[in-house]
Amino acid sequence: MEIIRIPRIMQQISEGHRLKCRSIGLVPTMGALHEGHLSLIKRSKCENDITVVSIFINPTQFDPNEDLDKYPKEVDSDIQKLKDAGVDTLFMPDAVQMYPDGFSSSIKVSGLDEKLCGAFRPGHFSGVSTVVCKLFNIARPARAYFGQKDFQQTQIIRRMAADLNIGCEIVVCPIVRESDGLAKSSRNIYLSSESRAAALVIYRALNAAADLIRSGESNAAVVKKKMNDLLVSEPLVSEVQYAAVYDPSTLDELSQISKENLLAIAIKIGETRLIDNMLVLI
Ligand code: AMP
Repeated sequence: MEIIRIPRIMQQISEGHRLKCRSIGLVPTMGALHEGHLSLIKRSKCENDITVVSIFINPTQFDPNEDLDKYPKEVDSDIQKLKDAGVDTLFMPDAVQMYPDGFSSSIKVSGLDEKLCGAFRPGHFSGVSTVVCKLFNIARPARAYFGQKDFQQTQIIRRMAADLNIGCEIVVCPIVRESDGLAKSSRNIYLSSESRAAALVIYRALNAAADLIRSGESNAAVVKKKMNDLLVSEPLVSEVQYAAVYDPSTLDELSQISKENLLAIAIKIGETRLIDNMLVLI
């Protein structure tokens, strides 16, 4: 596996592959890799000639009061996991390479970026869409792989790719969970064993809501109340940022259960912010 740190070199390598008609699959990550990331890589390897993984903890998507400085870094074990997974190229730039002096552009996907997490993390999605657009321009992928875990992110990236004629297929992969249902996340290592046990309330709330919908409940407010009642009943949940039923395309909250329903939750357990979601189709 080659490890590339300079965007211009990565771009030359990608151009070389394209000239030889080799398709590139890109898996953007922030490292501290787990089985969720590895599922994206596996899919990319099935569907492309070359798989490029990026590891970049993008500073512009973190608020000043967020966890940028303590975001987990596990470079050595990440490299080993990527080698074992058969990744061709690891692109691992530093912030100065990505945002040299004078950098002043940004991409805003209006509307979608203000809902759900956007309401609690101002500027976050602009940071995400800008860095993903840069990664697309650097790695020139035919396909890029994202997890449903970050559902809003996938919708924003899809919108951006369509609006800006990026010409890269956006592939969304299912959420990988621990055996007890907790969605895998690099941030789970912040959780003590008590907090981790408390975090299972998220999956319980999603399943309880899905069961209500499947058993015929048509009022989204009833489903929302069920989720919120469960979440606040857990003493270690310090904040419920949102927990409701949304239209998966517009991310607007639904008042009536529809054919396609996105159940989405963001809570804090202590200082750790956790998100999860479930699509319920009826
Ligand atoms: P991150 O490193 O957290 O920025 O995540 C990189 C990519 O992995 C994103 O597209 C995430 O949605 C995806 N991802 C993170 N956790 C999971 C998971 N549990 N299952 C599937 N994909 C995931």
